[in-house]
Amino acid sequence: MPVVSPESPLALKRRARRINKALSEKYPYAHAELDFRNPFELVVATVLSAQTTDVVVNQVTPLLFTRYPDARAMAEAEPTELEVILKPTGFFRAKAANLIALGTRLVDHYDGVVPGKLADLVTLPGVGRKTANVVLGNAFGVPGITVDTHFGRLSRRFGWTTSEDPVQIESDVAELFEPRDWTMLSHRVVFHGRRICHARKPACGACPVANWCPSYGLGETDPVKAAKLLKYELAPGSEALLAQFMVNTDRAADIRMASQRRSP
Ligand code: SF4
Repeated sequence: MPVVSPESPLALKRRARRINKALSEKYPYAHAELDFRNPFELVVATVLSAQTTDVVVNQVTPLLFTRYPDARAMAEAEPTELEVILKPTGFFRAKAANLIALGTRLVDHYDGVVPGKLADLVTLPGVGRKTANVVLGNAFGVPGITVDTHFGRLSRRFGWTTSEDPVQIESDVAELFEPRDWTMLSHRVVFHGRRICHARKPACGACPVANWCPSYGLGETDPVKAAKLLKYELAPGSEALLAQFMVNTDRAADIRMASQRRSP
């Protein structure tokens, strides 16, 4: 059950910011886990990420973008050829149709260029508010809160919201943070949800925000047992991967600075 905090709005805001600070120290390398080089690639990769993992999408996109590097090429794609490339991501027929429609709309209405406004982005086939916020935050440097399944679950566990509705969650969390923090907060919370605060077995005993989380105790609190639940670079025996991520911390900062330079 999500915990409803009785604390004052000011205390809630302070606690939320302490959690964000602790997450920033735990995941200094947090970034969009989809690989992309421009807004077109990010919007396509984000559409493909529905119902699959970012890892699978990153395996597919190098070939995809070699074959279809821009909106015009995507609009003119031959469906069966596109489907073969997209097959590993699941729902490949629907995704191929979406990408062709996406390319066509970009060419017909936006001169082949991905627009930098939420109202325009959500008119693109396959692009909802979540995808639009990912694109705005990461390709255009426009602050945005991305509410996916991890972000929603953790926001409720943190007591930042009681809602299940993504738009309401976005609004509740936006009240707690400065807009400049929204994009990185989204990355950190999603990182935390994937690695430690899992849906079914949160590793509370190995959690860096346990002191400020009203849901502490929802999962395993024994530190040794909790450590065994950690995933990806935090999992036992993944020291090399963690070291690689720490090296990438500078790269993540570069990506952020580059996206801010691109912001209007
Ligand atoms: S203390 Fe437990 S429930 Fe709270 S964020 Fe950490 S892992 Fe999740």
